[in-house]
Amino acid sequence: MRMIRNYSKWWTDVITAIFVLVLLYLFLPLSGFAKNSDSRDTLVLLGNENLAPIVYNDNGTAKGVAVDIAKAIGDKIGYNVQVIAMNWEQAQLLVLNGGADGLLQINPNPERDIIYDFSTPLLKSEFSIFIQSDNVTIKSIDDLRGKNVGVEVGGYPSTLLRDYKGINAVMLYDWETSFKDLCNGDIDAIIVDRWIGEYELAQRKTAGVKILENPFKTQVSRIAVRKGDTETLNLINSGLAKATEDGTIDKIMERWQGKRVVYVTEEYYQTFFLHSFSLFLLLVALVAIYFFTKYRRLSKKLKASVKDRTEELRQANDKLKAANEKLELISMIDGLTSVGNRRAFDIAYTKAWNLSLREGMQLSLIMMDIDHFKVFNDTYGHLAGDQALIKIAEAIKSVIRRPGDLAARYGGEEFVVLQINTTEEGAAVVAEKIRRGIEELRMEIGEIKSIITVSIGGASVVPTDEMAPEELIGKADRALYMAKEEGRNRVIVWNPKVE
Ligand code: GH3
Ligand code: MG
Ligand code: MG
Repeated sequence: MRMIRNYSKWWTDVITAIFVLVLLYLFLPLSGFAKNSDSRDTLVLLGNENLAPIVYNDNGTAKGVAVDIAKAIGDKIGYNVQVIAMNWEQAQLLVLNGGADGLLQINPNPERDIIYDFSTPLLKSEFSIFIQSDNVTIKSIDDLRGKNVGVEVGGYPSTLLRDYKGINAVMLYDWETSFKDLCNGDIDAIIVDRWIGEYELAQRKTAGVKILENPFKTQVSRIAVRKGDTETLNLINSGLAKATEDGTIDKIMERWQGKRVVYVTEEYYQTFFLHSFSLFLLLVALVAIYFFTKYRRLSKKLKASVKDRTEELRQANDKLKAANEKLELISMIDGLTSVGNRRAFDIAYTKAWNLSLREGMQLSLIMMDIDHFKVFNDTYGHLAGDQALIKIAEAIKSVIRRPGDLAARYGGEEFVVLQINTTEEGAAVVAEKIRRGIEELRMEIGEIKSIITVSIGGASVVPTDEMAPEELIGKADRALYMAKEEGRNRVIVWNPKVE
């Protein structure tokens, strides 16, 4: 409901006020002006029925932050304070006419200063401009010229607007209809205490309305008494001072601020949802980045560790290989004489045979056996025999210098020399050198008044596919047999006559 009032018709308000006054006398016989049932003096304060959450009429009971403060004032001064929330214009007239003790929550202005006395400050009021949320042209009070601006009838903003020429003040009677009118565009703006406006919007979940951030006017509301009613004013002020001092008012404010409903509109929901969603996305992104970085770091660490382990393994493997090679080498060396052993000879012989077969090269083999070595052993003992074997092996080694040639201990006191790419003449020369070298050692065999000598048999072939590898060994062996037969200490290289 909306009405535009003519201020010159104030007398209609006076008549209504008198009517309400009569009603109050009839229905509230115990209130206000006389003694209350609890025998305490009573103060009746009238408030605006339409200022939720500051003062409002809740099914006949006055409620709101200012009402609680008024009750607290009563407690401090030992009075029973009764608040009636009613039509604001009528309330003002009633007090003026002595129908009640004071007006709760009123902002002084020059007109009111003439007819009322005001208490110390009660509450802060931020009179703000409410407009449609898609309105971008109205930024301050100056932009309201030529516009319809809603203000509560008899309310403080209505008096303020009189100073602004060109603004068409529209009197409002209830907030629900007024804000609907604002949304419909029937009025361009509403000026009201921010707390009250926001409370209304929040209660009705009204969308499409915004508040200009800078208040149009900031004021402190007070309690008003009839001009000259100093006694009541002093009472109220002392109660207000006490309630402020002991923190009662702070507690009341806190309680009501807690109840202060946040002005939630569809736009707010949308922005809230948008912000929450962005925050959620950001959070998801952060968590993803965190895990990605963690995974990368872990994977790097793992890679490094795998690399280290691989390197360690490679080193261990190399060591093992070297150890195996060493072992292999050891397993091929004769423990007593340090020349190759029978195994080394067998392996080298197969390799040399195959190589010679492939390359068509001549392969020579020298076999030697110490002469009368049993006697030497019998004479000087086995240990001396071993020493002799060592010396003989050294003598053989000193002759075998060509890489690829191999000297080995073939049996107990038998040695062999394998020579690749060597003719029988070459083999005979080497064999003779060995024979002479051993002879020159001059190791005596006392019993038979002789020195240690060796008999040597040699042979040489170019291997063919038809030949068995044992053939060369057989030939050398037979040549050695011949050397023994022919008197020992000699070299016989195989030729067809040896057959
Ligand atoms: P021959 O001239 O016919 O060869 O006479 P021999 O006494 O050397 O006879 P044979 O070759 O059969 O002798 C083998 C002897 O060599 C037997 C053993 O006393 C000696 N002998 C074999 N192996 C070793 C060894 O490792 N150490 C020592 N000290 N003597 C060994
Ligand atoms: Mg022998
Ligand atoms: Mg012998």
